[in-house]
Amino acid sequence: MAGKGLKVFGHLLRDVVKPDLCTFCGACVTVCPVRVIDVKNDRPVLTGRCILCQLCYNQCPKTEPSVDELEKVFFGLEGSGESPIGPYKAVYTAEATDEKIRSRAASGGVVTALLKFLLEEGMVDCATVAVADVETGWKPRPEVVFTGDDVLKAAGSKYTYCPMLLALGSAYFEYARDRVAFVGTPCQVTAVRKMQLADMGYRKLGLAAKYVIGLFCMENFDYSLITEFLPSKGVDLKSVSKFDISGGAFKVYGSDGKELLLVKVKELEKYSRKGCMVCPDLTAELADISVGNIGSSKGMSTVIVRTSKGEELFNKAVEKGILRAEKISDKGLKLLLRIAERKRKRGLKMKSV
Ligand SMILES: Cc1cc2nc3c(=O)[nH]c(=O)nc-3n(C[C@H](O)[C@H](O)[C@H](O)COP(=O)(O)OP(=O)(O)OC[C@H]3O[C@@H](n4cnc5c(N)ncnc54)[C@H](O)[C@@H]3O)c2cc1C
Repeated sequence: MAGKGLKVFGHLLRDVVKPDLCTFCGACVTVCPVRVIDVKNDRPVLTGRCILCQLCYNQCPKTEPSVDELEKVFFGLEGSGESPIGPYKAVYTAEATDEKIRSRAASGGVVTALLKFLLEEGMVDCATVAVADVETGWKPRPEVVFTGDDVLKAAGSKYTYCPMLLALGSAYFEYARDRVAFVGTPCQVTAVRKMQLADMGYRKLGLAAKYVIGLFCMENFDYSLITEFLPSKGVDLKSVSKFDISGGAFKVYGSDGKELLLVKVKELEKYSRKGCMVCPDLTAELADISVGNIGSSKGMSTVIVRTSKGEELFNKAVEKGILRAEKISDKGLKLLLRIAERKRKRGLKMKSV
């Protein structure tokens, strides 16, 4: 993993931003020591004099080292992980026992329950979450939260990108906290592990993420999905309460819980981010615990426990009655493996185009 020559913002622009591979995770913006990287149209831009520190290039999840290479270091593997869902200890189907969490959550409320548990047990100082609501037109914003109530407000999936690394930066630089529970999509999880493990990683910031919870993600979408597509389908944004992608369909629910729209995810192709098409990682392979819905029945979460730290947290949450869990069914696991393999192949194919 040795550096191969100077790689500064200009190279990031050439290798990632211009080919439209940026997933807007916010890592480059967060680590710039002279604050000259800003965001315009959801892409990083240089607004002042670059000091050639190379930090931006080296935390980006789209530059070397790859997820595979990081996995070898992180999990101490000899070869690359054979499984399309990456290394793991166990896979469960689970749900939060708290009905209030389940009613607001994307699937079984496992992510919200774990974050709340970590905060309430004093195992972290704060958590990073994506918040979106009717008032802000459902544009997700990264936030640092300190209470279970605020974690609950962020429950549910927002299927447009949210630069979660800005929240990690905020927790560390602004709130001076270094025990953070980080939640993010696979690319965002990769950025955190890069900070922790890569030669040019921004070690202190990465290590502030004490628990890393990954979300399964087939792809993320441009905000125009909300501002263009939904109105074009007659959806009044003010009446939306929840979004869901499961079983190959994108569903929008109203405040009374009724379904306002159901379309095939294929219909959303125009809005998906190109950077997601070259990503081989469905399940956030570098997380401590990854959570999604593929492989579980409606209203339940599929949970991949990967590290000892993740295992300890998950077991504790089950023991304390925060989560209900059972081993995933063979059928559920097979489905998950099949879809993960599909994403891996798509990522590798698109990369070579
Ligand atoms: C863009 C995206 C694509 C996804 N694609 C898939 C998929 O293809 N297959 C699948 O099985 N699961 C997918 N998921 C995960 C799934 O939607 C649920 O997040 C997961 O099942 C966890 O459910 P939960 O009830 O435990 O989470 P909850 O308890 O509802 O908590 C969800 C957490 O996710 C965070 N979050 C929400 N939106 C974002 C965002 N845009 N960026 C970063 N963090 C966010 C919130 O802060 C919240 O803490 C996707 C999620 C996202 C955000």
